[in-house]
Amino acid sequence: MNENKRDFNTLVRAVRQFRDEREWGQFHNPKDLAISVSIEAAELLEHYQWKDADQVRALVADPQTRAAMATEMADVLLLLISLGEATGVDLLDSAFAKLEQNAAKYPIEKARGRADKYDQL
Ligand SMILES: [Mg+2]
Repeated sequence: MNENKRDFNTLVRAVRQFRDEREWGQFHNPKDLAISVSIEAAELLEHYQWKDADQVRALVADPQTRAAMATEMADVLLLLISLGEATGVDLLDSAFAKLEQNAAKYPIEKARGRADKYDQL
Protein backbone atom coordinates (compact mmCIF):
# COMPACT_ATOMS: atom_id res chain seq x y z
CA MET A 1 0.00 0.00 0.00
CA ASN A 2 1.18 3.50 -0.80
CA GLU A 3 2.73 5.00 2.35
CA ASN A 4 0.72 8.24 2.16
CA LYS A 5 -2.52 6.24 2.21
CA ARG A 6 -1.65 4.56 5.52
CA ASP A 7 -3.54 6.75 7.94
CA PHE A 8 -6.20 5.84 10.44
CA ASN A 9 -9.18 7.20 8.53
CA THR A 10 -8.13 5.24 5.44
CA LEU A 11 -8.04 2.12 7.59
CA VAL A 12 -11.53 2.87 8.96
CA ARG A 13 -12.84 3.29 5.41
CA ALA A 14 -11.19 0.02 4.34
CA VAL A 15 -12.78 -1.82 7.29
CA ARG A 16 -16.16 -0.32 6.37
CA GLN A 17 -15.71 -1.37 2.73
CA PHE A 18 -14.63 -4.89 3.72
CA ARG A 19 -17.79 -5.21 5.88
CA ASP A 20 -20.15 -3.75 3.29
CA GLU A 21 -18.85 -5.80 0.36
CA ARG A 22 -19.71 -8.93 2.35
CA GLU A 23 -22.98 -7.58 3.73
CA TRP A 24 -21.71 -8.31 7.23
CA GLY A 25 -23.11 -5.13 8.74
CA GLN A 26 -26.18 -7.17 9.71
CA PHE A 27 -23.98 -9.20 12.07
CA HIS A 28 -21.99 -6.30 13.47
CA ASN A 29 -23.93 -5.56 16.62
CA PRO A 30 -22.05 -4.02 19.57
CA LYS A 31 -22.39 -7.09 21.80
CA ASP A 32 -20.86 -9.55 19.35
CA LEU A 33 -18.17 -7.12 18.29
CA ALA A 34 -17.19 -6.47 21.92
CA ILE A 35 -17.06 -10.23 22.51
CA SER A 36 -14.92 -10.60 19.39
CA VAL A 37 -12.50 -7.90 20.59
CA SER A 38 -12.06 -9.84 23.81
CA ILE A 39 -11.57 -13.16 21.99
CA GLU A 40 -8.91 -11.68 19.72
CA ALA A 41 -7.18 -10.07 22.73
CA ALA A 42 -7.16 -13.49 24.36
CA GLU A 43 -5.60 -14.96 21.21
CA LEU A 44 -2.85 -12.37 21.58
CA LEU A 45 -2.39 -13.36 25.23
CA GLU A 46 -1.97 -17.01 24.26
CA HIS A 47 1.47 -16.13 22.94
CA TYR A 48 2.52 -15.02 26.45
CA GLN A 49 0.75 -17.62 28.55
CA TRP A 50 3.10 -19.59 30.84
CA LYS A 51 6.17 -17.77 29.54
CA ASP A 52 8.63 -15.91 31.73
CA ALA A 53 10.10 -12.53 30.73
CA ASP A 54 13.13 -14.09 28.98
CA GLN A 55 10.95 -16.46 26.98
CA VAL A 56 8.70 -13.57 25.94
CA ARG A 57 11.73 -11.55 24.81
CA ALA A 58 12.84 -14.50 22.69
CA LEU A 59 9.38 -14.88 21.19
CA VAL A 60 9.19 -11.21 20.30
CA ALA A 61 12.65 -11.39 18.73
CA ASP A 62 11.59 -14.31 16.55
CA PRO A 63 10.22 -12.91 13.27
CA GLN A 64 7.71 -15.73 12.80
CA THR A 65 6.25 -15.40 16.30
CA ARG A 66 6.26 -11.62 16.12
CA ALA A 67 4.33 -11.83 12.85
CA ALA A 68 1.76 -14.10 14.52
CA MET A 69 1.45 -11.60 17.38
CA ALA A 70 1.07 -8.77 14.88
CA THR A 71 -1.79 -10.66 13.25
CA GLU A 72 -3.62 -10.90 16.57
CA MET A 73 -2.95 -7.22 17.31
CA ALA A 74 -4.42 -6.39 13.90
CA ASP A 75 -7.48 -8.52 14.67
CA VAL A 76 -8.03 -6.52 17.87
CA LEU A 77 -7.62 -3.21 16.06
CA LEU A 78 -9.88 -4.15 13.16
CA LEU A 79 -12.60 -5.35 15.50
CA LEU A 80 -12.29 -2.22 17.65
CA ILE A 81 -12.75 -0.16 14.51
CA SER A 82 -15.82 -2.24 13.63
CA LEU A 83 -17.14 -1.71 17.16
CA GLY A 84 -16.57 2.01 16.75
CA GLU A 85 -18.53 1.89 13.51
CA ALA A 86 -21.39 -0.05 15.12
CA THR A 87 -21.65 2.33 18.08
CA GLY A 88 -20.92 5.66 16.40
CA VAL A 89 -17.77 6.08 18.48
CA ASP A 90 -14.91 7.91 16.80
CA LEU A 91 -11.96 5.86 17.99
CA LEU A 92 -9.38 8.46 17.06
CA ASP A 93 -11.23 11.15 19.04
CA SER A 94 -11.75 8.86 22.02
CA ALA A 95 -8.12 7.70 21.98
CA PHE A 96 -6.84 11.28 21.98
CA ALA A 97 -9.33 12.20 24.71
CA LYS A 98 -8.21 9.24 26.83
CA LEU A 99 -4.58 10.13 26.31
CA GLU A 100 -5.36 13.63 27.63
CA GLN A 101 -7.11 12.11 30.64
CA ASN A 102 -4.13 9.86 31.26
CA ALA A 103 -1.76 12.82 31.02
CA ALA A 104 -3.80 14.60 33.70
CA LYS A 105 -3.86 11.49 35.92
CA TYR A 106 -0.17 10.81 35.40
CA PRO A 107 1.68 14.15 35.45
CA ILE A 108 5.20 13.74 34.09
CA GLU A 109 6.82 15.11 37.25
CA LYS A 110 5.06 12.48 39.37
CA ALA A 111 4.91 9.52 37.02
CA ARG A 112 8.25 9.58 35.22
CA GLY A 113 9.99 6.20 35.63
CA ARG A 114 7.26 4.79 37.87
CA ALA A 115 4.74 2.05 37.17
CA ASP A 116 2.43 2.94 40.07
CA LYS A 117 -1.28 3.58 39.62
CA TYR A 118 -2.27 7.25 39.59
CA ASP A 119 -3.69 7.12 43.12
CA GLN A 120 -0.38 5.80 44.40
CA LEU A 121 1.80 8.54 42.93
MG1 LIG B 1 -7.15 -13.89 15.71
